[in-house]
Amino acid sequence: VLSYDVYKRKQGKNSIPLRPLRIGILTQEPNNYSNQEMVRAAEARGHVVDMIYTSRCYMAINAHKPEVHYDGAPLPRYDAIIPRIGSRLTFYGMSVVRQFEAMGVFCLNNAQPIGASRDKLLAHQVLSQHGLGMPITAFAKSSHDTKGILDLVGGAPVVVKLLESTQGKGVVLAETRSAATAIIDAFRGLNAHFLVQEYVKEAGGSDLRCFVVEGKVVGAMMRTAQEGEFRSNVHQGGSVKKVRLTKEERRTAIKATKILKLKVAGVDILRSKSGPKILEVNSSPGLEGITKATGKDIAAEIIGCIEANVRTVFKTTTK
Ligand code: ADP
Repeated sequence: VLSYDVYKRKQGKNSIPLRPLRIGILTQEPNNYSNQEMVRAAEARGHVVDMIYTSRCYMAINAHKPEVHYDGAPLPRYDAIIPRIGSRLTFYGMSVVRQFEAMGVFCLNNAQPIGASRDKLLAHQVLSQHGLGMPITAFAKSSHDTKGILDLVGGAPVVVKLLESTQGKGVVLAETRSAATAIIDAFRGLNAHFLVQEYVKEAGGSDLRCFVVEGKVVGAMMRTAQEGEFRSNVHQGGSVKKVRLTKEERRTAIKATKILKLKVAGVDILRSKSGPKILEVNSSPGLEGITKATGKDIAAEIIGCIEANVRTVFKTTTK
């Protein structure tokens, strides 16, 4: 059942007639699979979609009439904005999303949650404060006590991660204490922010990507690293297949999105001896892997979420 139908049932006979929505996708890559999928799903329901290059938006900050300008003119009034903010544009992208929020536009994910989930350390702190399982993690910048950091996470093997890492690029497995010490010292020498994490060996080079839309897991897949690699990212040659989540995994994924206040997110989980451990929560999860692995229309779920939310705002019932 698509959320759209659920929406219609909820609204009952007092709902206003459907009108097409005007949706803007904030992106730097209008032609990628995820964006094209959302256009297809939105147009199939009669909506109109514009691609907006995030970096080309500019804004006057004022209280009376917040606007977003683009190519010399204000953007039209959108019913909804889908932020697809890449890691390189997080800071600017968040300010553009905030501006749309100030204009009262429904944003699929809000600026503050996008920023909180993008900051691996902040997300880690917030989620573990709420009692969610995560790999034991230590954070270091200028402390010279490398031994202490390694002891905190239980010694080698450990995973050392650059805080800015995406697609597995800044993630290193150090199998021995001397390798870990060398990597930590090297990262320190570069003045980089990094975290040191227990290596969850029993995950066996696999992790789970749970795609959550408004408190519901609409698709899940297992990503498995290629031979000789521990990172399961598709960009590192990982493969994907559909997976059935346990109740606990499902609950964990949903809880993480609620804590971070993300309506749409990809939650990455490791299967460990002591239950699910969250690796990361992604506020602009890609659609290609999950759509192909599950055979589900994930884009339609996202558009359904927009319809349900925007309709509520515009609802004028006549009794
Ligand atoms: P990125 O944000 O760059 O993708 P992740 O933290 O998601 O970085 O790590 C990339 C991959 O490395 C994960 O998908 C997972 O397969 C593996 N990995 C990361 N951390 C651990 C860990 N603590 N234990 C075992 N495997 C890990």
